[in-house]
Amino acid sequence: MSEITQLFQYNTLGALMAGLYEGTMTIGELLKHGDLGIGTLDSIDGELIVLDGKAYQAKGDKTIVELTDDIKVPYAAVVPHQAEVVFKQKFTVSDKELEDRIESYFDGQNLFRSIKITGEFPKMHVRMIPRAKSGTKFVEVSQNQPEYTEENVKGTIVGIWTPEMFHGVSVAGYHLHFISEDFTFGGHILDFIIDNGTVEIGAIDQLNQSFPVQDRKFLFADLDIEALKKDIDVAE
Ligand SMILES: [Zn+2]
Repeated sequence: MSEITQLFQYNTLGALMAGLYEGTMTIGELLKHGDLGIGTLDSIDGELIVLDGKAYQAKGDKTIVELTDDIKVPYAAVVPHQAEVVFKQKFTVSDKELEDRIESYFDGQNLFRSIKITGEFPKMHVRMIPRAKSGTKFVEVSQNQPEYTEENVKGTIVGIWTPEMFHGVSVAGYHLHFISEDFTFGGHILDFIIDNGTVEIGAIDQLNQSFPVQDRKFLFADLDIEALKKDIDVAE
């Protein structure tokens, strides 16, 4: 395949951090742009997980629902994932150790990448951002977020690795979400241990940064960029 792989990013993490939580793009529209990705839902009601072309919501009450096309999102990033590097992880490592191994395959630090890791996890620690009203700062909401740890769970990690220069638009480094094989457990990953799995790293050639151009709140929001970057460090 010599096709160009484009990361489709809807809205910015910075706008989300500022409290702009209103869903403005439908899942149906979003899924036209990719089959793997992450995001959140209207009113930041949990975590969005896009796996194999289907969208799921991991809610704060520890349930998972598959989303219909009419549901709206305020922020998401999806990509038509094409594995460029595939390797097996055959011994137990922490998330940090696995991330070092993943990065050893990168050609430099300046391109986005898609990440898909399917395997067995002795530990998977996730959070689900709880539903909140627009205007409440994300970093405040995240201080009271439900967190869950599951042991010995099989499933898939999906997400994006972002270069440093895009911190603010997205979160620099890894933004990973998890969903279990039986679709009963998932969320935004805080940390994990993997003891067996297959890691896929996808190349990304282009970024399609899309904006909620008809959302008045976004258009006229007064964003304090430096403060938002700090909030992303704390909350993501
Ligand atoms: Zn997330």
